Amino acid sequence: MSIFKQQESQVQSYARSFPVTFKRANGCWLTTKDDQQYLDFLAGAGSLNYGHNNPLLKDALIKYISDDGIAHGLDMHSSAKADFLTAFRNHILKPRNLDYKVQFTGPTGTNAVEAALKLARKVTGRQQIVAFTNGFHGCSMGALAATGNQHHRGGAGAPLQGISRIPFEGYANIDGLSLFETMLSDNSSGLDKPAAVLLETVQGEGGLNVASSAWLQRLSSICNRHDILLIIDDIQAGCGRTGTFFSFEPSGIKPDIVTLSKSISGFGLPMALVLLSPELDIWAPGEHNGTFRGNNHAFVTATATIELYWRNNQLEQHIAERATQITQSLEQTLAQYPQLFSEIKGRGLMQGISCRESQFASDISKLCFKNGMIIETAGPNDEVVKFFCPLTITEDELTQGLSIFQNAVNQLALTLTKKAS
Ligand SMILES: *Cc1c(COP(=O)(O)O)cnc(C)c1O
Repeated sequence: MSIFKQQESQVQSYARSFPVTFKRANGCWLTTKDDQQYLDFLAGAGSLNYGHNNPLLKDALIKYISDDGIAHGLDMHSSAKADFLTAFRNHILKPRNLDYKVQFTGPTGTNAVEAALKLARKVTGRQQIVAFTNGFHGCSMGALAATGNQHHRGGAGAPLQGISRIPFEGYANIDGLSLFETMLSDNSSGLDKPAAVLLETVQGEGGLNVASSAWLQRLSSICNRHDILLIIDDIQAGCGRTGTFFSFEPSGIKPDIVTLSKSISGFGLPMALVLLSPELDIWAPGEHNGTFRGNNHAFVTATATIELYWRNNQLEQHIAERATQITQSLEQTLAQYPQLFSEIKGRGLMQGISCRESQFASDISKLCFKNGMIIETAGPNDEVVKFFCPLTITEDELTQGLSIFQNAVNQLALTLTKKAS
């Protein structure tokens, strides 16, 4: 029996889908202890947008460690933090006309969401937050209350409070925003006026559901008119995943609060941020505290990603080209196997294909794994095969991944035909 089976809690999840032991990784490739190679189309659920051990980030980090740079600093000032804040302001915020203040939280996404919710409640003096069907925001109690998934919610063991739920765009063909606005204006709707709405512009775990720009603009204007804060959880969809640094850029909306984590450090190091409009910065010192708010190694690699990838639009162009490559390939698969697939989902390098039965998605993921690729599923029933390669993937590597997927689909179709006959 392996040490993992003997010793590690059964709360493990991804390890069950990919039961091998990884030892090294480089770019889009993972290598096991037995020197088996796998193409990585999971990329740390979006934490490795620039690939594993990206040499440029690794060099910056090695140099910093060799120089005895501060590793842990609570929230004290450090040169590494100053460099990060400067690069983030100059190359991310300023060119986009954003004036956010930056709050460093504990280094997980869910902690950034907790901070955002606390702040919205503190600023407005209201308790309710509106979250959306199929949203995912993390597994600590406050963020979990905003998460839709029953499997995760069931783990709470205590009441999940303070959230009202409305339908996301396209959910059950309901116009959730009309409903929201009607309920806000109706004194007897039972909807307490919320402090904020919290949402992902592309729902990562919820099945790659995309909020259109028009829908986001409508939501933003409802929030403005009713004096409700708009929080975008860009933990998964941000940092270039959908094609631009922030996922909401194409819509032109300006959220009051934004959460970032997963790929903000760029190297897979834990780091999380809350961006807040300056007038909201009414925190008392240490009011939302955390021992690991100063992961300076993460600041070093985060600064390097900005300097390397976000000072011009080359990466954005690369993402657009690779995204088209995926869309075209998935369109062919969809046309070829309408009995297996219902639609293509997502945007940018956050795309996937929805299977008519969740078993198909699970079978495809297993077949891909057999053929040397790690790829996961998402959605309420894990019915969406989710293409989450590093953004820096080359055209050839992407072609390779897409053909492993296509072979898996062919194999599944063949098995199903045999079964039927
Ligand atoms: C992953 C994720 C979180 C939670 O981040 P953790 O680091 O796992 O706590 C929150 N929101 C979204 C959109 C995510 O994808």
